Amino acid sequence: LIDKEEDKEEDLVKRPPVVTVMGHVDHGKTSLLDAIRKTNVTSSEAGGITQHIGASEVMVNGEKVVFLDTPGHEAFTSMRARGAQVTDMAILVVAADDGIMPQTIEAINHAKAANVPLIVAINKIDKPGANQDRVKQELADQGLLVEDWGGDVICVPVSALKREGIDTLLEMVLLVAEMEELKANPNKRAVGTVIEAQLDKGRGPVATVLVQGGTLRVGDPIVAGVASGKVRAMINSKGKRVKVAEPSTAVEILGLSEVPQGGDQVVAVPSDKAARLVAEKRQQMAREEMLKSNQRMSLDDF
Ligand code: GDP
Repeated sequence: LIDKEEDKEEDLVKRPPVVTVMGHVDHGKTSLLDAIRKTNVTSSEAGGITQHIGASEVMVNGEKVVFLDTPGHEAFTSMRARGAQVTDMAILVVAADDGIMPQTIEAINHAKAANVPLIVAINKIDKPGANQDRVKQELADQGLLVEDWGGDVICVPVSALKREGIDTLLEMVLLVAEMEELKANPNKRAVGTVIEAQLDKGRGPVATVLVQGGTLRVGDPIVAGVASGKVRAMINSKGKRVKVAEPSTAVEILGLSEVPQGGDQVVAVPSDKAARLVAEKRQQMAREEMLKSNQRMSLDDF
């Protein structure tokens, strides 16, 4: 039922990179994402309300780049705990006036463990206390040698506040994407991962799904974790309704029976019946897991 077949090389086509922003609290992750989003907002969109769906798309030199809004740490920990890998690369934000902090090191370790390439953005270079060399030294101490010190770690000085260096940073994202040769097969039933999900009063269960392979279409029967259903509507990162979502597209989907969890795998299946069967099977497996862990717990109690 679920397509586990390896894609053939000739079926693969280039797909946009999916990027997360990580870093210590207050080093400027949110500000940087904001600055990135504003790089190519057209004047007609500028005043409009853009719906938050947990991911944003920006165009860089005519190429699409997808940014996940969920803090990178969460994307890595909760998703990876469930075996999901959603990002192709991480931007590590380090404040130039503060340097490497505990969550910076944590972020480096997440990226290493996931084998995801890292681009360092030294942020807040506008601040009087900014010291880029100190940051580079501290990075070196963590085993990350930046390019201008003879290493291979790409490092871009930026100011999210003053929107400086953002274009260069985005060009580096494209460069890394190019090197990674990111590809997917759009011509099969969709597979993807739940980025976030919640129960919406009016619309029922709503899940933001990153399509990673194949093409998701309105009307497709799907399974998301233990939830099943049929895609009733899809909304893209610009808040527009769309009928299809190709690889590396994040869409909000409506039509699930219940709220799935972030990191849950999403698959389009051949029929409604298949969707129900797969979901039931997964529910049964989840119950058995729960039972087992309950037994373990009660044994440990004595
Ligand atoms: P986050 O916790 O990593 O998401 O950090 P925020 O984006 O919320 O930024 C934390 C604080 O640093 C805020 O007060 C921002 O205005 C400020 N900040 C972020 N980027 C810059 C920058 O480039 N320059 C300066 N001077 N302040 C910045």
